Amino acid sequence: MNMEKFDLLEACKDAGRIFISGHIRPDGDCVSSCLAMYLYLKKAVPAAVVQVALEAPSEVFQCIKGFDEIDSTYTVEGAVDVFIALDCEKSRLGAAAEIFDNAGKRINIDHHVSNERGCGDINYVVPGYSSTAELVYDLFDRQYVDAEIAKAVYIGIAHDTGIFKYSNTSPKTLRVAAELIEYGFDFPAVIDQTFYEKTYAQNQLLGRALLESIVFMNGNCIVSAIDKKTLDFYNAAPKDLEGIVNQLRITKGTECAIFMYETGNLEYKVSLRSCRYVDVSKVAAFFGGGGHVRAAGCTVNGTFHDVVNNISKQIELQMRAHEEEDKLAVKR
Ligand code: 5GP
Ligand code: MN
Repeated sequence: MNMEKFDLLEACKDAGRIFISGHIRPDGDCVSSCLAMYLYLKKAVPAAVVQVALEAPSEVFQCIKGFDEIDSTYTVEGAVDVFIALDCEKSRLGAAAEIFDNAGKRINIDHHVSNERGCGDINYVVPGYSSTAELVYDLFDRQYVDAEIAKAVYIGIAHDTGIFKYSNTSPKTLRVAAELIEYGFDFPAVIDQTFYEKTYAQNQLLGRALLESIVFMNGNCIVSAIDKKTLDFYNAAPKDLEGIVNQLRITKGTECAIFMYETGNLEYKVSLRSCRYVDVSKVAAFFGGGGHVRAAGCTVNGTFHDVVNNISKQIELQMRAHEEEDKLAVKR
């Protein structure tokens, strides 16, 4: 593992062009880490041209400074000296992967357990850390941090910890959050705007997903899906479905939640969550995806029933192993 902090400003000091990007379908942590890094480097390395590129993020992140400077066309106007890949490994960089390959120096900062080695020349990859935003903040020289940078970091941490309540929230995470709010931005407002507030269509989709959900495996699993027709009816994008799987997860008695939406003919994007013991990153990795122990995702081909059967088979294997362990523990 590459858990060692490194000197970010030293790594960037001779760079003429720095390019920052994150994963496809960027989430709150990804957008926030990229913008925090962007704002910080523009300030701390003024001689460099700093670019930030991502697939179009949800508009809710408009409250973060620099949002309008995110380039979703991935245009590079010269040689990239330093590429900073955030919150993912190379395989999820999408259109930025080619720019990554041609960059002079590659830096990878990530907290996904599925990113085993890091894909950069310099790696700061710490699985289990609350968020990439917290990792990014570790590397910042505090003299350049201001309220706008602090706000971006705070939003990233808040999103990936489900607002400081998932098990990835460490005492240090909370200390960092405390330090951040001292910069004096409106922290309750940004959480409402970026996390809790839903459009009417988003709430309708959440309602449908809950209504049509199915509990199975003796109540241990819950699954729901949204098909392409429904997405089209609401004129909705994948980012309108965020949060649904988390609502499914808190159904009393369930260990695992599966939420899927149709991305193409016989193709589903699957989100997985667990509560206590199932390692969903292993389940996702079995289907070519990845993520964290309690939150992971993958893309799976087949009908709704095929996908549910295949995924639940992997979950069941872990549940059986867990039951066996419990039995042995009782005997002991
Ligand atoms: P979500 O279910 O919210 O899309 O993703 C949960 C977590 O798993 C996130 O940290 C996300 O980055 C990761 N993840 C989701 N889908 C994939 C995937 O297809 N591949 C990999 N490697 N990670 C994924
Ligand atoms: Mn993240």
